[in-house]
Amino acid sequence: MPAYDFTRRASRPTDPDVVVVGAGVAGLATARALADRGLDVQVLETTERVGGRMATRELDGFRLDHGGHLLNTAYPEPARRLDLDRLELRPLAPGALVHSGGRRYRIGDPQQTPARQAAARQAGPRGPLGSPLDRARLAAALGRLAATPVPRLLARPETTAARALGDRGLPARTVDGFLRPLLSALLSDPALSTSSRVADLVLRSYARGRLALPAAGIGAVPDQLAAALPEGSLRLGVEVTSVSTAGVETARHGRIAARAVVVATDAPAAAGLLPGLRLPAFHPVTTYYHAADRSPLGEPVLLLDADRSGVSHSLVLSEVDPSYAPSGRALIATTVLGRHTFDAGGPSGDEPVVRRRLGELYGTSTDGWEFLAVRHVPDAVPAMPPPHHFRRSVRLLAGLYVCGDHRDTSTVQGTLVSGRRAAEAVLRDLGVPVADEAADVAA
Ligand SMILES: Cc1cc2nc3c(=O)[nH]c(=O)nc-3n(C[C@H](O)[C@H](O)[C@H](O)COP(=O)(O)OP(=O)(O)OC[C@H]3O[C@@H](n4cnc5c(N)ncnc54)[C@H](O)[C@@H]3O)c2cc1C
Repeated sequence: MPAYDFTRRASRPTDPDVVVVGAGVAGLATARALADRGLDVQVLETTERVGGRMATRELDGFRLDHGGHLLNTAYPEPARRLDLDRLELRPLAPGALVHSGGRRYRIGDPQQTPARQAAARQAGPRGPLGSPLDRARLAAALGRLAATPVPRLLARPETTAARALGDRGLPARTVDGFLRPLLSALLSDPALSTSSRVADLVLRSYARGRLALPAAGIGAVPDQLAAALPEGSLRLGVEVTSVSTAGVETARHGRIAARAVVVATDAPAAAGLLPGLRLPAFHPVTTYYHAADRSPLGEPVLLLDADRSGVSHSLVLSEVDPSYAPSGRALIATTVLGRHTFDAGGPSGDEPVVRRRLGELYGTSTDGWEFLAVRHVPDAVPAMPPPHHFRRSVRLLAGLYVCGDHRDTSTVQGTLVSGRRAAEAVLRDLGVPVADEAADVAA
């Protein structure tokens, strides 16, 4: 491999300093960090929109995300890279409602203030899981986790989340009735085969922050990053077919030379462009959207199904923000996890089963609900089994870099960190000073 010439310029005056392949959150964050340091960047995106897996689409006045997403206000990197005030984050109610054995319990509020305890007491029937003692024990455990420094969590022996949950000294009913369904929902992993270290970090973020969604839908996150890019730096409808340290080839727009190339695609596309790159397994996510004439819950709380019915969780999005549905209608998003072999009807064919279960979960008739849409994403979330590498290399060669959720953790937190790391690697190689920033590990 010949030495890389750091002083070499792109060959034509119109060629950018850096080409970023892919306008998902990772690519947009990378491009923004590079543009902020004065580099001329072009982001090439094969589709006609930004956001990749984080997108929101309007349908007859309903706001449908490309599959159910949840942000956590405790994630450090979004707090640094995004203007959270302008995103108008709408927090979910603290804790969760758990449906187990035909009953619903409110549990898992990490900050058990007296007022919230009183609200929980009024929340409906309670069983052993919802007893004040169990709730207090769980709140104490979550409080301890919230206060545990990250290096201490990362020093714990690593196994699967499923195995580690049994070793934490909590009653089985708390594990099976709350922690297991909560972690399955947050990790999109019903078998909890995820690294226990990742699970600890996810629970720690849960205990420190609040689950939330932008008022305008999850697509507001990439939209905000894209809006901050210099005019003309984003090119939609441009498919990159090969990459090198000197530029990219595209399917219909010829060759674009650059001093550095960052591959910020999803993992399968990255493995196609960069042969030999590790391709992770994926957790699929299927989200059903229903409309109802009345909200079945009356508050924006995560409803977890602890009975392993196939449904993971459900949320009344119009309670998170009324603008998710037209006036007088409610929008309900329900997530089914795991790999399915759908019959000829595809995921839509399972809708009657999901709807029936929703009737049990919400304790109301769902006969009159309107089935709006289903989003099935087979390669939704890269799996993170043990041993999980939290900081995979983003610099392949001087001049060639890779980022995305498959390099750090499979959340918007990990995605943004990987974008920042790739940008810093490019800047260093191009001789641009890089400010030392805290590199928090979180998930
Ligand atoms: C249904 C679902 C639910 C999720 N839930 C959560 C959640 O609750 N919380 C959370 O934090 N995360 C969640 N995630 C994960 C999160 O969405 C991803 O981690 C994140 O969006 C990944 O961003 P990325 O930029 O790495 O990749 P992507 O979003 O996949 O972006 C890659 C981009 O590259 C483009 N591209 C691909 N090939 C080419 C090419 N050859 N040329 C040009 N462009 C190309 C693609 O079109 C795409 O726009 C969820 C994901 C899904 C799908």
